[in-house]
Amino acid sequence: MTPVTVFSGRTVAVFGLGKSGRMTCQALIAGGARVVAADDNAASLAEAAAAGIPIGDLRTIDWSTVAVLVLAPGAPLTHPAPHWAVLLAQRANVPVIGDIDLFCRERAKSAPGAPFVAITGTNGKSTTTALVAHILRSAGRDVQMGGNIGVPILSLEPSSRARVHVIEMSSFQIDLAPALDPTVGVLLNVSEDHLDRHGTMENYAAIKERLVAGVQGGGIAIVGVDDDWCRAIADRLEKQCRRLVRISVHQALVQGVTVEGNRIVAATERGRETVAELAGISSLRGVHNAQNAACAAAAMLALGLSPHDIQQGLRSFPGLAHRMEEVGRRGAVLFVNDSKATNVDSAAVALVCFTDIFWILGGKAKTGGIASLTQFFPRVAKAYLIGEATEEFAATLEGRVPYVRCGTMDRAVVAAAFDAESSGLAAPVVLLSPACASFDQYRNFEVRGDAFRKLVQALPGKRP
Ligand code: ADP
Repeated sequence: MTPVTVFSGRTVAVFGLGKSGRMTCQALIAGGARVVAADDNAASLAEAAAAGIPIGDLRTIDWSTVAVLVLAPGAPLTHPAPHWAVLLAQRANVPVIGDIDLFCRERAKSAPGAPFVAITGTNGKSTTTALVAHILRSAGRDVQMGGNIGVPILSLEPSSRARVHVIEMSSFQIDLAPALDPTVGVLLNVSEDHLDRHGTMENYAAIKERLVAGVQGGGIAIVGVDDDWCRAIADRLEKQCRRLVRISVHQALVQGVTVEGNRIVAATERGRETVAELAGISSLRGVHNAQNAACAAAAMLALGLSPHDIQQGLRSFPGLAHRMEEVGRRGAVLFVNDSKATNVDSAAVALVCFTDIFWILGGKAKTGGIASLTQFFPRVAKAYLIGEATEEFAATLEGRVPYVRCGTMDRAVVAAAFDAESSGLAAPVVLLSPACASFDQYRNFEVRGDAFRKLVQALPGKRP
């Protein structure tokens, strides 16, 4: 745990008592603060109270005694409307921050300049965060990984000069971290997302920009420049004379890190150097993962790792569950769990990785369905439809791709495995990349991916 001492002897209000919120309370109490905690959910309140966290009514407390409100990132700060606790804090001129801001304040006080890699982007955050932490660990560094990836930042060991913190940040978390000052800031990409919580694209991109704009004097900002929003952000940072590394998987850069074929290449005024080779690394398939790997490699170079260490780390990266995860082989057939693909953009980056796909898809469809994926249909040998989206997707596939209505995952896995195996193709792939949310049949995409993995493992004769 990182005890938070910056509010020692003062009162801190905490709203939102999930895993991170409870850890925030404990870290503040360990650092000597008085905590008054609240939640709208009775079960969360009961769980926090059982853990010994002091619960209070934020509607009736004396806000003039409160130093700061620590808000959970799930509670709205601005859109569609500020949460009631935010309004009460603002009325009393009490700053509203998140747990990552507490970490930054504590680091500034007790270990200023301690290595801190912060990673954001619309897509690829978790993969890049896990990859950066893995490369550093395999190079023998002391690493603490957390944030949006599911480990509360304040549950990590405290900052120190010899320890690198690798932190994934969502836009909600950046919005609650005005003190954010990483030594290495990584912005992978920006595309439309979360407009319900940020109002406009301009506002959403401006929040993402704050992560790289917050990089300290001696630090480095790493920005993927393959979209217009990020290109503009990089240009602004350069005008401010920030140390900036641009990343591209599509264009040659005079300075920066690019992906050429399967190679990650660093271009500087001294020339061009191959940093690493991505060929044969199955956990990093696809151009999207090349972007993640190139950003990770640039972060590693910024922290002084050698190309040899970077290559070793990339090669041994196991990948994350539910993201193009190879879950088994049965004869020539490869089974891939990409349950995290809950929208068409994610499914597109998976479909582009293979030919001869036996595609399991469906669930709770997003607006627009799969119409935008037609360019990938020639890669699909047959589609296996599950869930609520079945009729809508069947209409899009009609006349273009052979398909079958399976209803449920168990029937889809058996049918796809049988067809793939008897296809006679050299390298058939059974791919779960649903292009849909899971909520019609599963609690979340993890449960859906676990179900797929179990069904594949239960098929007779599968090789792990
Ligand atoms: P996040 O944490 O930002 O949601 P993940 O690393 O969990 O991202 O990846 C989620 C999905 O997003 C992946 O399954 C893949 O489909 C897609 N994805 C990953 N990296 C990128 C990228 N750099 N660009 C576009 N899409 C990506």
